[in-house]
Amino acid sequence: MSERHETGACFCGAIVAEMTGEPFWICYDHDDDCRRAIGSPLTVWVGYRPTQVCFTRGEPKRFSRTPGVTRLFCGDCGSAVGYRDEGTPDELYLAIGFLDRPEAFKPQAHAYWRMRLPWVAFDDDLPRIEEYSRERDPAYGKPKDR
Ligand SMILES: [Zn+2]
Repeated sequence: MSERHETGACFCGAIVAEMTGEPFWICYDHDDDCRRAIGSPLTVWVGYRPTQVCFTRGEPKRFSRTPGVTRLFCGDCGSAVGYRDEGTPDELYLAIGFLDRPEAFKPQAHAYWRMRLPWVAFDDDLPRIEEYSRERDPAYGKPKDR
């Protein structure tokens, strides 16, 4: 069986990426930073190793407000592409909306569950993680300490 291949693109098509292999982590995210950056009550992040992701067209713009965290987005249409976190250097997260087959990426947990909006309700039995869902280099502090 050949290795899994997935693709992604922003709304205008200026940024295109190809992903090889399986993502290692797929997680709902209810935190307020991502809410504001994405413009959505919550999102789903799809985690790959940086070597699995190749930008084949365009280069995302970068913006950082939270120490260690750099958000990637399209400089033309503004679509969220993903983010990098220096506290988890071997991880690159893509926004579920950037992916061409979002239905193929089923979340495995909820992160920042305590920050969910009061009317957000799920009847799944996925783990509810109150904080960040990944082990992060403590030198960068917690994403909430900003
Ligand atoms: Zn775009």
